[in-house]
Amino acid sequence: MKLATFEKAGTRQLGVILGERVVPLSAVLSHPPADMIELIRAWDAIRSSLDTDFAEAGLPLSEVALLAPVPRPGKVLAIGLNYADHIAETGNKVPENQLWFSKASTSIHGPFDPIEVPKVSRQVDYEVELVAVIGKAGRHISRDRAPEHVFGYCVGNDVSVRDWQRQTPQWVLGKSFDTHGPIGPWITTADEVGEPHRLDICCMVNGEVRQSSNTKHLVFNVWAQIEHLSKVMTLEPGDIIFTGTPGGVGLARKPPVFLAAGDTVRCEIEELGFIEGVMVNEA
Ligand code: ZN
Repeated sequence: MKLATFEKAGTRQLGVILGERVVPLSAVLSHPPADMIELIRAWDAIRSSLDTDFAEAGLPLSEVALLAPVPRPGKVLAIGLNYADHIAETGNKVPENQLWFSKASTSIHGPFDPIEVPKVSRQVDYEVELVAVIGKAGRHISRDRAPEHVFGYCVGNDVSVRDWQRQTPQWVLGKSFDTHGPIGPWITTADEVGEPHRLDICCMVNGEVRQSSNTKHLVFNVWAQIEHLSKVMTLEPGDIIFTGTPGGVGLARKPPVFLAAGDTVRCEIEELGFIEGVMVNEA
């Protein structure tokens, strides 16, 4: 199943995606959850009510604005240096330990909304990533049990401000600018995706392919990531995990190429859809 957060006539709603249409949950459930995190928490009870036939129902997607499926997650965690070709292009060695940082939850951004080139930098870069959305809460989750804790997957762009990322050992500021965490276009539930380590993943800038890989090339796979993170913290419904980016980032090109106002950045993952944003200068 594909689940979206969308806006229509100024009202934020949840919906099920069916082809080119979205069926609002408010049309199906007498007490629809208030937001995606509430939906994830109540999923076991709700999903059976969604097994009805929606064939003729819903709104054309062209008449709604898709928002980030989880507009304000509790946590946004991201792993660095997690595809061999990306590690090589950055001149690093394969890390012995998983390298984690956070993106501010305020960086989370709609899948088709403009992405800002901030006033304080001209070194904005793209990073297409498979994003895992946590379902069932847990601590000390083994990698064998990790699949039970994933609600679903979507596409993310871990937009990165390279000079701010590299001016200190801690990356959090360079990864946390407003608008720099677009995710979407919706969540495809884990049961529909099945094995997540087999998906083609790519990023295009102005139609030119810059990154092209497959999630089978993750160094630390999604299950290992969940095992490691949950040694430290309780993972909760709606928490967002950016699982790493393949080679081809703008920083590693010779010479480096960064995103500028007017550029269109499209991030796409097989079976999960695509997100696409136009770069604009921060007002
Ligand atoms: Zn990243």
